[in-house]
Amino acid sequence: MARKVEQRLSYCLKHQDRLTDTRCSACLKPICEECTLATESGKFCGNECYEKRLQSDQRVAEMKVKDAAARGPQMMRTILGWCFTFLMIAALYFVYMNLPIAWKGWLAKSFKGLWKAVKGAFGH
Ligand SMILES: [Zn+2]
Ligand SMILES: [Zn+2]
Repeated sequence: MARKVEQRLSYCLKHQDRLTDTRCSACLKPICEECTLATESGKFCGNECYEKRLQSDQRVAEMKVKDAAARGPQMMRTILGWCFTFLMIAALYFVYMNLPIAWKGWLAKSFKGLWKAVKGAFGH
């Protein structure tokens, strides 16, 4: 336990006699209360680190925008895929509806035969 606290607590880099558990959010330097620059993005050792963080935050935001832009076409592809599947089913149905009656009879018979085989396998 004691070791854990020791690891967490460090001396401020500028004030070697002040123990602190606060670290800069950007460079992880130990900073005491006096050296801490508290911002809405976290605590920093100085303006330099704060600006670094702001820049990286901006990059993350830009990445997110790019991600969203890339996701748009993906959605379109999915929708197109579904449309294609639907069209295929419709086409198959259309072909079936226009089959000669003799073929339909044969298909129905083979389905009945299949059904009987399935029933025979599970019916006992
Ligand atoms: Zn820093
Ligand atoms: Zn300090």
